[in-house]
Amino acid sequence: MSKDQERGVKKPLLAIVLPCYNEEEIILQSANVLKEFLTDLKLSGSIHPDSFIVIVDDGSSDKTLDLLISQADEALKVVKLASNVGHQNALLAGMQVVTGHVDCAITMDVDLQDDLSAISKMIAAYNRGAHIVYGVRNDRETDTVYKSTTARVFYKLMGAMGVKLIEDHADFRLLSGFALSEFAKYKEVNLFIRGIIPMIGLKSEIVYYKRLSRIGGDTKYSLIKMLSLALDGVTSFSNRPVRLISFLGIFMFVTSVFLAIWIVLVVLRGDNIPGWASTALVMDMLGGIQLLALGIMGEYISKIYLETKGRPHYHIEAVIEKKDQE
Ligand code: UDP
Ligand code: MG
Repeated sequence: MSKDQERGVKKPLLAIVLPCYNEEEIILQSANVLKEFLTDLKLSGSIHPDSFIVIVDDGSSDKTLDLLISQADEALKVVKLASNVGHQNALLAGMQVVTGHVDCAITMDVDLQDDLSAISKMIAAYNRGAHIVYGVRNDRETDTVYKSTTARVFYKLMGAMGVKLIEDHADFRLLSGFALSEFAKYKEVNLFIRGIIPMIGLKSEIVYYKRLSRIGGDTKYSLIKMLSLALDGVTSFSNRPVRLISFLGIFMFVTSVFLAIWIVLVVLRGDNIPGWASTALVMDMLGGIQLLALGIMGEYISKIYLETKGRPHYHIEAVIEKKDQE
């Protein structure tokens, strides 16, 4: 039987991977809910009894890690990163830890905003042969106006820059073991996982779900972190901004030629060139555009700089695994 034919016959060994940073208010509740959920899935016979949860502690500075370790058991592994490397890198750490050891993995947020009831649908899609199952939210009712507005702007911006994203899909998804190992071939330092996954191009399905409110605590994505993610997303996947600069440069050049001709004509007619305000305005505008252009170029150059160094995304300080009888 091929790996694909085995699906639906053999119960898949599943890992649920969750990055976690300073979540002391909710981590105990979250760990309990997840464990119960996993046990139920095992009892229902839809997953392999050795399936497990991996929570990656992304260098939390509060009590999160201690609380997590108190919860570690056969079904819950804790991966302790040495420092805070951000959501995407922490997620990567979790994915890499399970790659090669599972039939499929589901990634989600530890705040349980991603609806657990979508997981059975994801496993069903996996059993039908999907390698990637995207969790796509079908409403944004639970979002604050701020969150839904920034999200809209983000997708619009990415779309305009030619980055293909599955709209309203964040990092709640199932990947088959094969998709995980294919994903591991992407070595880029500037990581934007949700942009890479669709590029793998394997058979995929979408599962719609209702995104819930955080069970507690606050979002760890500040406006600055969100802007950085958006900028990373654009500059890692598209050279359109640099193209735009070139087009703008051509446009400004052509305009200046016409302006020059106009000035010569005015002077030949013996008229005065009117006002200094227009000169100041043009200088101001050009200065702004040049700085913006330099900034965008700088973004790309700094990306090259980081990529050439090829520094690691994270350092795993410890993996805490406890056996049941301990
Ligand atoms: N997170 C992380 N490292 C960070 C920031 C966030 O591991 O530096 C985790 C966080 O604990 C959560 C997930 O990433 O499980 C998503 O973060 P959050 O819920 O704050 O983002 P939002 O859902 O508001 O976009
Ligand atoms: Mg969240």
